[in-house]
Amino acid sequence: AKTLPLDKIIQGQGFGTRAYCRALIEAGVVTVQGQWCDDPDKSFALEELNFTINDEPHLYREHVYILLNKPAGFECSQKPKHHKSVLSLLPAYLRERSNQSVQPVGRLDVDTTGLLLLSDDGQFIHKNTSPKKQVDKTYHATCKHPITDEFLNQLKNGVLLHDENETIKANAARALDEYTLELVISEGKYHQVKRMIAAASNRCEALCRIAVGEIELPKHLALGQWVFLEK
Ligand code: URA
Repeated sequence: AKTLPLDKIIQGQGFGTRAYCRALIEAGVVTVQGQWCDDPDKSFALEELNFTINDEPHLYREHVYILLNKPAGFECSQKPKHHKSVLSLLPAYLRERSNQSVQPVGRLDVDTTGLLLLSDDGQFIHKNTSPKKQVDKTYHATCKHPITDEFLNQLKNGVLLHDENETIKANAARALDEYTLELVISEGKYHQVKRMIAAASNRCEALCRIAVGEIELPKHLALGQWVFLEK
């Protein structure tokens, strides 16, 4: 099993520079597997490593997989232009891990809410954003005009998006109430849901993603809150 000195472990998990992490450990605020440890050079096996810093429990993670309930008003970009980045909703230690940095897996519009995955696992990000990988994404859209059968049929049979030459179909479309559409699509074209709704002569006034593949937005996760996914 892979082992590392405690200072390097804590540094790699995003808790500060090597010197800062050594100072933390020497200050006596760190436990490992339930035992106090104030020796930064003591080595530990990484597998199933539990540690606490100032009584906050953490689990060693080679990579992180995060599910965020994205609020409106945040950009899915590391260098946002007009709003804060969704990354600002995560604690510093998740933004400062020593691997590749944590980034959104795909994007939601600034005003779209709901399920957003983030990870620092390059392979996982690639697999889930590659255009070849067709994973179902479920959205709830609030529409400006009442939802009609004609509208639902258009979405299911295919609509022609502005500036595209092939029609695009929803995998499923149904009304949840007079104005709320549940739509399942597998592509991820720019503003796809909003453009599909517009192409079917309605208008999307609010959009929330509630599932990606098998992964659903947990009911009790408030906007701006996040949880770890165990892969
Ligand atoms: N479709 C959109 O129009 N916007 C999103 O954020 C996601 C899908």
